[in-house]
Amino acid sequence: MALMKAVRGTRDLLPPETELWNRVERTACDVFARYGFGEIRTPIFEDTQLFARGVGEETDIVSKEMYTWEDRARAQSEKSQSLTLRPENTAGVVRAYIEHKLAETGLLQKLYYIGPQFRRERPQKGRYRQFFQIGAEVIGPPSAGSESPLRDAEVLEMLATLLDALGIAGWTLELNSVGSATDRPRYVQALREALIPVAASLCDDCQRRAVTNPLRVLDCKVPEDQPVIETLPKIADFLDDASRAHFAAVRSALDACGVPYHVNPRLVRGLDYYTRTTFEFTHGGLGAQNALLGGGRYDGLSEMLGGPRAPGIGFAIGADRLVLTLQAMDSAARGDEALLDVYVAPIGEAQQNAALQLARELRRQGLRVELGDGSFRIKKAFEMADKRARSIILLGEDELQSGQLTVKTFASGEQTKIARDEIGDYLCRAMRVGEQN
Ligand code: AMP
Repeated sequence: MALMKAVRGTRDLLPPETELWNRVERTACDVFARYGFGEIRTPIFEDTQLFARGVGEETDIVSKEMYTWEDRARAQSEKSQSLTLRPENTAGVVRAYIEHKLAETGLLQKLYYIGPQFRRERPQKGRYRQFFQIGAEVIGPPSAGSESPLRDAEVLEMLATLLDALGIAGWTLELNSVGSATDRPRYVQALREALIPVAASLCDDCQRRAVTNPLRVLDCKVPEDQPVIETLPKIADFLDDASRAHFAAVRSALDACGVPYHVNPRLVRGLDYYTRTTFEFTHGGLGAQNALLGGGRYDGLSEMLGGPRAPGIGFAIGADRLVLTLQAMDSAARGDEALLDVYVAPIGEAQQNAALQLARELRRQGLRVELGDGSFRIKKAFEMADKRARSIILLGEDELQSGQLTVKTFASGEQTKIARDEIGDYLCRAMRVGEQN
């Protein structure tokens, strides 16, 4: 039988890389908690209509990238139903907001999620068919302040804080406003008309987009198309007074808290639900797929899904791309995170039970411990330990009788004898000092 492999565009995440994933997710949870967010978990598949209505029939995601299937009825009383693996999580969160009548609390809901999303895109570095997003939404009735530009600034400032907390240097915040639900159609119409005489000179994708979804032309990366795209109308000239004032207030709040940004008039994003503020954080180290995260306002989405008026703003971070960026920044230091604190090496089979017992005590003290095998020679034990841990404890017959154990710390090369009862405290101290260096 042919060798079984993970499906194209999906991948396994293994240690030590998963250590980095855990750190990224933990940091995100910590930062989100400081801003009053709580976790929401929605199902991985939903009714196809949710995405068709929420994300938009004409978007690339819905028109060609969704994993959709007809779920057969199991009983006469059931109907078959078209289901889809979620390609993004905002529509699901807003569905849950409506379904659980969260509007009735009268409060602003601040919800974050972490989980896989699925899109049938062409796989390449930083682009997968199953990928992971860490996202958050702020949504609520207008009376709770959900439309306030301060919310936009708070979300953007939180993202800057998160990237800084992760140690990601050199990010750029690209910012734009795509206007209200009435500004956008006027702009799209102007764009459509401006594209008629020039579309033939653009790439094949743009020729199609000029008809189906003209906003997407602005995302085109083909170098030859850029001079033409630069001459197209700009959304900024189509904003009504309220949208203009909203955008100015977002910018001034960002200026006030010192978050740098770059206004990019071409940033319109691919999902239909966006209104007013849209943004992306990019990072130069990522190559072609340089967007670390994206998001924006979606003031009309709840109504589009049959809910009450509930303006909101949210974002989704590409966790795969965060991890790639961190790996590229400091690969040497990252490898060290996977090392355990200590390798307990019994020198013979007679010491195996004593080694297991010592490992149990050290683990209960919070140390990360690997247990060696009593059949190894000392040299082999040292080799194994050096690969897996930052120190080794040798447990031979002499050591057991005297109660004095030999400990070697690899980074300093220091080797010393410590009383068995003190060894946990000694290692806890040594590992803390090691971490600070
Ligand atoms: P979107 O939901 O399209 O606004 O994307 C938000 C973020 O998710 C992007 O900025 C990327 O970081 C990430 N992302 C989107 N699609 C993929 C993909 N196919 N593979 C990996 N990351 C992705």
